[in-house]
Amino acid sequence: MSGLGHTPDLLRPDVALDGFNTLRLPARAAWFARVEDVDGLRAVLDDPRVAGLPRFVLGGGSNLVLNGDFPGLVLQVAFHGRSKIFEDEEAHYVKAGGGENWHDFVRWTLEQGWGGLENLSLVPGTVGAAPVQNIGAYGLEMAEFFYSLRAYDLETGKTVGFDKADCHFGYRDSFFKQGGAGRYLIAGVTFRLPKRWVPRTGYADVARALAEAGIAQPTPLQISDAVIQVRQAKLPDPAVLPNAGSFFKNPVVSAEHHARLLADYPAMPSYPQPDGQVKLAAGWLIEQAGWKGRVLGPVGCYARQALVVVNHGGASGAHVAALRAAVCAEVLNTFGVELEQEPVTLGMLSPLS
Ligand code: NAP
Repeated sequence: MSGLGHTPDLLRPDVALDGFNTLRLPARAAWFARVEDVDGLRAVLDDPRVAGLPRFVLGGGSNLVLNGDFPGLVLQVAFHGRSKIFEDEEAHYVKAGGGENWHDFVRWTLEQGWGGLENLSLVPGTVGAAPVQNIGAYGLEMAEFFYSLRAYDLETGKTVGFDKADCHFGYRDSFFKQGGAGRYLIAGVTFRLPKRWVPRTGYADVARALAEAGIAQPTPLQISDAVIQVRQAKLPDPAVLPNAGSFFKNPVVSAEHHARLLADYPAMPSYPQPDGQVKLAAGWLIEQAGWKGRVLGPVGCYARQALVVVNHGGASGAHVAALRAAVCAEVLNTFGVELEQEPVTLGMLSPLS
Protein backbone atom coordinates (compact mmCIF):
# COMPACT_ATOMS: atom_id res chain seq x y z
CA MET A 1 0.00 0.00 0.00
CA SER A 2 2.40 2.61 -1.23
CA GLY A 3 -0.50 4.89 -2.07
CA LEU A 4 0.87 5.38 -5.57
CA GLY A 5 -1.43 3.64 -8.03
CA HIS A 6 0.07 0.45 -9.42
CA THR A 7 3.59 0.83 -8.04
CA PRO A 8 4.47 -2.24 -6.01
CA ASP A 9 5.16 -1.60 -2.34
CA LEU A 10 8.93 -1.61 -1.95
CA LEU A 11 9.00 -0.28 1.59
CA ARG A 12 9.73 -2.73 4.39
CA PRO A 13 9.58 -1.70 8.05
CA ASP A 14 12.10 -2.65 10.75
CA VAL A 15 14.68 -4.53 8.68
CA ALA A 16 17.82 -6.19 10.08
CA LEU A 17 20.95 -4.86 8.36
CA ASP A 18 23.31 -7.62 9.53
CA GLY A 19 23.30 -9.25 6.11
CA PHE A 20 23.77 -5.95 4.30
CA ASN A 21 27.22 -5.07 5.70
CA THR A 22 30.33 -7.16 5.17
CA LEU A 23 31.54 -6.53 8.75
CA ARG A 24 28.27 -8.22 9.76
CA LEU A 25 27.53 -5.71 12.49
CA PRO A 26 24.02 -5.85 13.91
CA ALA A 27 21.65 -2.92 13.40
CA ARG A 28 18.08 -2.33 12.26
CA ALA A 29 16.69 0.19 9.81
CA ALA A 30 13.30 1.71 10.60
CA TRP A 31 12.52 1.40 6.86
CA PHE A 32 14.27 -0.34 3.97
CA ALA A 33 13.68 -0.39 0.23
CA ARG A 34 15.52 -2.09 -2.61
CA VAL A 35 15.17 0.23 -5.58
CA GLU A 36 15.74 -0.94 -9.16
CA ASP A 37 14.87 2.17 -11.12
CA VAL A 38 14.00 5.84 -10.79
CA ASP A 39 10.22 5.19 -10.82
CA GLY A 40 10.56 2.80 -7.90
CA LEU A 41 12.80 5.23 -6.08
CA ARG A 42 10.34 8.11 -6.56
CA ALA A 43 7.46 5.95 -5.31
CA VAL A 44 9.39 5.11 -2.15
CA LEU A 45 10.46 8.70 -1.51
CA ASP A 46 6.91 9.98 -2.03
CA ASP A 47 5.48 7.54 0.49
CA PRO A 48 4.11 9.44 3.51
CA ARG A 49 5.37 6.74 5.89
CA VAL A 50 8.96 7.87 5.32
CA ALA A 51 8.34 11.58 4.85
CA GLY A 52 10.95 13.66 6.65
CA LEU A 53 13.02 10.69 7.79
CA PRO A 54 16.80 10.59 7.29
CA ARG A 55 17.92 8.47 4.32
CA PHE A 56 20.96 6.36 3.70
CA VAL A 57 22.08 4.99 0.33
CA LEU A 58 23.44 1.45 0.56
CA GLY A 59 25.61 -0.28 -2.03
CA GLY A 60 27.34 -3.56 -1.26
CA GLY A 61 27.81 -2.60 2.41
CA SER A 62 31.52 -3.38 2.06
CA ASN A 63 32.80 -0.01 3.19
CA LEU A 64 30.40 0.51 6.05
CA VAL A 65 30.47 0.48 9.86
CA LEU A 66 27.03 0.20 11.45
CA ASN A 67 26.90 1.81 14.85
CA GLY A 68 23.45 1.18 16.25
CA ASP A 69 19.97 1.24 14.73
CA PHE A 70 19.12 3.69 11.97
CA PRO A 71 15.86 5.57 12.54
CA GLY A 72 15.39 6.39 8.87
CA LEU A 73 15.10 4.88 5.38
CA VAL A 74 17.85 2.71 3.90
CA LEU A 75 17.81 2.69 0.08
CA GLN A 76 19.55 -0.32 -1.39
CA VAL A 77 20.66 0.52 -4.92
CA ALA A 78 19.75 -2.26 -7.34
CA PHE A 79 19.95 -0.37 -10.66
CA HIS A 80 21.30 -2.92 -13.11
CA GLY A 81 22.53 -3.17 -16.70
CA ARG A 82 25.87 -2.79 -18.46
CA SER A 83 26.67 -1.91 -22.05
CA LYS A 84 29.04 -0.14 -24.38
CA ILE A 85 27.34 3.11 -25.26
CA PHE A 86 29.88 4.64 -27.59
CA GLU A 87 33.22 4.17 -29.23
CA ASP A 88 35.58 6.62 -30.88
CA GLU A 89 39.08 6.25 -32.28
CA GLU A 90 40.64 6.43 -28.86
CA ALA A 91 38.35 4.73 -26.39
CA HIS A 92 35.37 2.54 -25.50
CA TYR A 93 32.70 4.23 -23.37
CA VAL A 94 31.13 1.66 -21.09
CA LYS A 95 28.19 2.20 -18.77
CA ALA A 96 26.92 0.19 -15.80
CA GLY A 97 24.04 0.50 -13.35
CA GLY A 98 24.95 1.66 -9.84
CA GLY A 99 23.80 -1.66 -8.37
CA GLU A 100 26.06 -3.85 -10.53
CA ASN A 101 28.70 -5.83 -8.66
CA TRP A 102 32.02 -4.04 -9.24
CA HIS A 103 34.19 -7.14 -9.77
CA ASP A 104 31.69 -8.76 -12.16
CA PHE A 105 31.62 -5.53 -14.13
CA VAL A 106 35.45 -5.37 -14.31
CA ARG A 107 35.70 -8.99 -15.50
CA TRP A 108 32.99 -8.39 -18.08
CA THR A 109 34.90 -5.39 -19.53
CA LEU A 110 38.06 -7.51 -19.72
CA GLU A 111 36.24 -10.38 -21.39
CA GLN A 112 35.01 -7.94 -24.06
CA GLY A 113 38.67 -7.05 -24.71
CA TRP A 114 38.50 -3.62 -23.06
CA GLY A 115 41.47 -3.33 -20.70
CA GLY A 116 41.93 -0.66 -18.05
CA LEU A 117 40.18 -1.65 -14.86
CA GLU A 118 42.07 -4.91 -14.25
CA ASN A 119 44.04 -3.64 -11.22
CA LEU A 120 40.72 -3.03 -9.48
CA SER A 121 39.62 -6.66 -9.77
CA LEU A 122 37.99 -8.15 -6.68
CA VAL A 123 37.45 -4.79 -4.99
CA PRO A 124 34.23 -5.51 -3.11
CA GLY A 125 31.10 -3.43 -3.52
CA THR A 126 29.05 -1.97 -6.33
CA VAL A 127 29.66 0.19 -9.39
CA GLY A 128 27.68 3.03 -7.78
CA ALA A 129 29.86 3.00 -4.68
CA ALA A 130 33.12 3.05 -6.65
CA PRO A 131 33.15 6.80 -7.39
CA VAL A 132 32.09 7.70 -3.84
CA GLN A 133 35.43 6.72 -2.39
CA ASN A 134 37.31 6.65 -5.69
CA ILE A 135 38.36 3.06 -5.14
CA GLY A 136 42.01 2.33 -5.73
CA ALA A 137 44.38 -0.61 -5.66
CA TYR A 138 47.79 -1.61 -7.03
CA GLY A 139 48.60 1.77 -8.50
CA LEU A 140 45.26 2.53 -10.15
CA GLU A 141 42.43 4.78 -9.04
CA MET A 142 38.98 4.47 -10.56
CA ALA A 143 39.04 8.22 -11.32
CA GLU A 144 41.54 7.61 -14.08
CA PHE A 145 39.00 5.83 -16.29
CA PHE A 146 35.89 7.53 -14.98
CA TYR A 147 33.95 9.51 -17.58
CA SER A 148 30.63 10.57 -16.06
CA LEU A 149 27.78 9.47 -13.81
CA ARG A 150 24.08 10.04 -13.35
CA ALA A 151 22.76 10.49 -9.87
CA TYR A 152 19.36 11.06 -8.32
CA ASP A 153 19.35 14.14 -6.09
CA LEU A 154 17.46 13.11 -2.96
CA GLU A 155 16.93 16.77 -2.03
CA THR A 156 15.46 18.11 -5.28
CA GLY A 157 14.08 14.87 -6.76
CA LYS A 158 15.92 15.53 -10.03
CA THR A 159 18.38 13.38 -11.94
CA VAL A 160 21.72 15.13 -12.38
CA GLY A 161 24.79 14.41 -14.52
CA PHE A 162 28.32 14.69 -13.13
CA ASP A 163 31.46 14.78 -15.22
CA LYS A 164 34.90 14.05 -13.84
CA ALA A 165 35.63 17.61 -12.72
CA ASP A 166 32.31 17.79 -10.84
CA CYS A 167 33.29 14.76 -8.75
CA HIS A 168 36.43 16.29 -7.15
CA PHE A 169 38.16 12.93 -6.93
CA GLY A 170 40.99 12.61 -4.42
CA TYR A 171 42.74 9.80 -2.59
CA ARG A 172 39.84 7.51 -1.53
CA ASP A 173 37.71 10.63 -1.70
CA SER A 174 35.19 12.53 -3.83
CA PHE A 175 32.51 15.21 -3.71
CA PHE A 176 30.11 12.41 -2.67
CA LYS A 177 32.01 12.01 0.62
CA GLN A 178 32.38 15.77 1.12
CA GLY A 179 29.89 18.50 0.08
CA GLY A 180 27.55 16.01 -1.60
CA ALA A 181 27.61 13.44 1.21
CA GLY A 182 24.25 11.76 1.73
CA ARG A 183 22.50 13.74 -0.99
CA TYR A 184 22.83 11.60 -4.11
CA LEU A 185 21.96 8.10 -5.19
CA ILE A 186 24.34 7.08 -8.00
CA ALA A 187 22.18 5.40 -10.62
CA GLY A 188 24.79 4.66 -13.29
CA VAL A 189 28.44 5.28 -14.12
CA THR A 190 30.21 5.57 -17.49
CA PHE A 191 33.87 4.71 -17.92
CA ARG A 192 36.20 5.71 -20.73
CA LEU A 193 38.55 2.82 -21.46
CA PRO A 194 41.36 3.92 -23.81
CA LYS A 195 42.16 1.58 -26.70
CA ARG A 196 45.87 2.20 -26.14
CA TRP A 197 46.31 0.01 -23.11
CA VAL A 198 49.26 0.41 -20.76
CA PRO A 199 49.90 -2.37 -18.23
CA ARG A 200 50.36 -1.31 -14.63
CA THR A 201 52.50 -3.80 -12.83
CA GLY A 202 54.58 -1.54 -10.58
CA TYR A 203 53.24 -2.83 -7.25
CA ALA A 204 55.55 -5.48 -5.87
CA ASP A 205 52.91 -8.11 -5.07
CA VAL A 206 51.42 -8.05 -8.58
CA ALA A 207 54.86 -8.03 -10.24
CA ARG A 208 55.84 -11.03 -8.12
CA ALA A 209 52.69 -12.99 -8.98
CA LEU A 210 53.22 -12.39 -12.70
CA ALA A 211 56.91 -13.32 -12.49
CA GLU A 212 56.06 -16.51 -10.62
CA ALA A 213 53.61 -17.41 -13.37
CA GLY A 214 56.34 -16.77 -15.96
CA ILE A 215 54.40 -13.95 -17.61
CA ALA A 216 56.63 -11.18 -18.97
CA GLN A 217 54.10 -9.34 -21.14
CA PRO A 218 50.74 -9.77 -19.44
CA THR A 219 47.34 -9.17 -20.96
CA PRO A 220 44.70 -7.25 -18.98
CA LEU A 221 43.04 -10.55 -18.03
CA GLN A 222 46.34 -11.96 -16.78
CA ILE A 223 46.91 -8.88 -14.61
CA SER A 224 43.37 -9.31 -13.29
CA ASP A 225 44.13 -12.96 -12.47
CA ALA A 226 47.34 -11.92 -10.67
CA VAL A 227 45.50 -9.25 -8.66
CA ILE A 228 42.83 -11.79 -7.71
CA GLN A 229 45.50 -14.24 -6.60
CA VAL A 230 47.30 -11.62 -4.47
CA ARG A 231 44.11 -10.34 -2.89
CA GLN A 232 42.85 -13.82 -2.09
CA ALA A 233 46.17 -14.69 -0.43
CA LYS A 234 46.37 -11.53 1.64
CA LEU A 235 42.86 -10.30 2.37
CA PRO A 236 40.18 -12.13 4.32
CA ASP A 237 37.05 -13.21 2.44
CA PRO A 238 34.17 -11.35 4.13
CA ALA A 239 31.99 -14.44 3.69
CA VAL A 240 34.42 -16.32 5.95
CA LEU A 241 35.79 -13.59 8.24
CA PRO A 242 33.65 -10.44 8.17
CA ASN A 243 35.55 -7.23 7.36
CA ALA A 244 35.27 -3.96 5.45
CA GLY A 245 38.55 -4.03 3.53
CA SER A 246 41.16 -1.45 4.45
CA PHE A 247 39.94 0.15 7.63
CA PHE A 248 42.40 3.08 7.68
CA LYS A 249 43.60 5.41 4.93
CA ASN A 250 47.30 5.62 4.27
CA PRO A 251 48.43 8.82 6.01
CA VAL A 252 50.39 11.49 4.18
CA VAL A 253 52.98 13.44 6.17
CA SER A 254 55.30 16.37 5.51
CA ALA A 255 58.83 15.73 4.21
CA GLU A 256 60.22 16.95 7.58
CA HIS A 257 58.03 14.57 9.57
CA HIS A 258 59.01 11.76 7.25
CA ALA A 259 62.73 12.50 7.68
CA ARG A 260 62.40 12.42 11.48
CA LEU A 261 60.53 9.09 11.35
CA LEU A 262 63.02 7.56 8.93
CA ALA A 263 65.88 8.35 11.31
CA ASP A 264 64.18 6.18 13.94
CA TYR A 265 62.68 3.60 11.54
CA PRO A 266 65.01 3.19 8.55
CA ALA A 267 62.97 0.23 7.22
CA MET A 268 59.71 2.21 7.12
CA PRO A 269 58.02 1.96 3.68
CA SER A 270 57.24 5.39 2.26
CA TYR A 271 56.10 6.75 -1.06
CA PRO A 272 56.93 10.37 -2.08
CA GLN A 273 53.96 12.29 -3.49
CA PRO A 274 54.05 14.80 -6.35
CA ASP A 275 53.41 17.66 -3.89
CA GLY A 276 56.52 16.89 -1.83
CA GLN A 277 54.67 15.14 0.98
CA VAL A 278 55.22 11.46 1.72
CA LYS A 279 52.64 8.67 1.90
CA LEU A 280 53.15 6.09 4.65
CA ALA A 281 51.71 2.58 4.75
CA ALA A 282 49.06 2.54 7.49
CA GLY A 283 49.27 -1.26 7.69
CA TRP A 284 52.98 -1.09 8.49
CA LEU A 285 52.47 1.57 11.20
CA ILE A 286 49.72 -0.53 12.81
CA GLU A 287 51.89 -3.63 12.68
CA GLN A 288 54.84 -1.82 14.29
CA ALA A 289 52.49 -0.50 16.97
CA GLY A 290 51.82 -4.13 17.86
CA TRP A 291 48.31 -4.53 16.52
CA LYS A 292 48.79 -7.08 13.72
CA GLY A 293 46.75 -10.15 14.66
CA ARG A 294 45.78 -8.59 18.00
CA VAL A 295 42.18 -8.59 19.25
CA LEU A 296 40.12 -6.31 21.44
CA GLY A 297 37.00 -8.23 22.44
CA PRO A 298 35.39 -9.78 19.36
CA VAL A 299 37.24 -7.55 16.86
CA GLY A 300 40.86 -7.33 15.83
CA CYS A 301 43.44 -6.42 13.20
CA TYR A 302 43.80 -9.22 10.66
CA ALA A 303 46.84 -11.46 11.16
CA ARG A 304 47.98 -11.30 7.52
CA GLN A 305 47.22 -7.62 6.89
CA ALA A 306 46.94 -5.32 9.92
CA LEU A 307 45.06 -2.69 7.92
CA VAL A 308 41.95 -4.84 7.86
CA VAL A 309 39.67 -4.87 10.90
CA VAL A 310 37.91 -8.21 11.28
CA ASN A 311 34.87 -9.33 13.24
CA HIS A 312 35.66 -12.67 14.87
CA GLY A 313 32.00 -13.07 15.80
CA GLY A 314 29.41 -11.18 17.80
CA ALA A 315 30.90 -7.69 17.38
CA SER A 316 28.87 -4.47 17.51
CA GLY A 317 29.66 -1.01 16.16
CA ALA A 318 30.85 -0.02 19.65
CA HIS A 319 33.47 -2.78 19.61
CA VAL A 320 34.75 -1.55 16.25
CA ALA A 321 34.84 2.03 17.54
CA ALA A 322 36.80 0.93 20.62
CA LEU A 323 39.36 -0.90 18.46
CA ARG A 324 39.66 2.07 16.16
CA ALA A 325 40.32 4.39 19.12
CA ALA A 326 42.94 2.03 20.59
CA VAL A 327 44.80 1.56 17.30
CA CYS A 328 44.72 5.29 16.49
CA ALA A 329 46.02 6.18 19.97
CA GLU A 330 48.87 3.69 19.73
CA VAL A 331 49.94 4.83 16.25
CA LEU A 332 49.73 8.49 17.29
CA ASN A 333 51.74 7.76 20.41
CA THR A 334 54.42 5.80 18.55
CA PHE A 335 54.76 7.79 15.32
CA GLY A 336 52.96 11.09 15.88
CA VAL A 337 50.74 10.16 12.90
CA GLU A 338 46.95 10.46 12.95
CA LEU A 339 45.09 7.65 11.23
CA GLU A 340 41.77 8.25 9.53
CA GLN A 341 39.01 5.67 9.13
CA GLU A 342 38.23 4.73 5.53
CA PRO A 343 34.71 3.21 5.74
CA VAL A 344 31.63 5.32 6.31
CA THR A 345 29.96 5.07 9.72
CA LEU A 346 26.17 4.91 9.88
CA GLY A 347 24.38 5.49 13.16
CA MET A 348 24.90 7.23 16.45
CA LEU A 349 28.56 7.44 17.45
CA SER A 350 29.18 5.82 20.80
CA PRO A 351 31.20 7.64 23.48
CA LEU A 352 34.09 5.33 22.59
CA SER A 353 34.30 6.48 18.98
P1 NAP B 1 50.91 -3.33 0.29
O1 NAP B 1 51.38 -3.90 -0.99
O2 NAP B 1 51.13 -4.04 1.57
O3 NAP B 1 51.51 -1.86 0.42
C1 NAP B 1 51.19 -1.05 1.54
C2 NAP B 1 50.82 0.34 1.05
O4 NAP B 1 51.93 0.90 0.41
C3 NAP B 1 49.69 0.28 0.08
O5 NAP B 1 48.53 0.64 0.74
C4 NAP B 1 50.09 1.24 -1.05
O6 NAP B 1 49.39 2.47 -1.03
C5 NAP B 1 51.54 1.56 -0.77
N1 NAP B 1 52.33 1.07 -1.91
C6 NAP B 1 52.80 -0.17 -2.11
N2 NAP B 1 53.53 -0.22 -3.24
C7 NAP B 1 53.51 1.01 -3.76
C8 NAP B 1 54.07 1.60 -4.92
N3 NAP B 1 54.81 0.88 -5.79
N4 NAP B 1 53.84 2.91 -5.15
C9 NAP B 1 53.11 3.66 -4.30
N5 NAP B 1 52.54 3.16 -3.18
C10 NAP B 1 52.75 1.86 -2.92
O7 NAP B 1 49.35 -2.99 0.15
P2 NAP B 1 48.08 -3.94 0.36
O8 NAP B 1 47.46 -3.62 1.66
O9 NAP B 1 48.42 -5.36 0.04
O10 NAP B 1 47.12 -3.38 -0.74
C11 NAP B 1 47.43 -3.47 -2.11
C12 NAP B 1 46.63 -2.44 -2.87
O11 NAP B 1 45.24 -2.71 -2.78
C13 NAP B 1 46.84 -1.04 -2.36
O12 NAP B 1 46.83 -0.16 -3.44
C14 NAP B 1 45.66 -0.85 -1.46
O13 NAP B 1 45.29 0.51 -1.31
C15 NAP B 1 44.58 -1.63 -2.17
N6 NAP B 1 43.57 -2.13 -1.26
C16 NAP B 1 42.53 -1.31 -0.95
C17 NAP B 1 41.57 -1.76 -0.05
C18 NAP B 1 40.41 -0.90 0.34
O14 NAP B 1 39.53 -1.39 1.05
N7 NAP B 1 40.38 0.33 -0.03
C19 NAP B 1 41.64 -3.02 0.50
C20 NAP B 1 42.71 -3.81 0.18
C21 NAP B 1 43.68 -3.34 -0.71
P3 NAP B 1 47.97 2.74 -1.78
O15 NAP B 1 46.95 2.18 -0.86
O16 NAP B 1 47.93 4.22 -1.84
O17 NAP B 1 48.01 2.07 -3.10
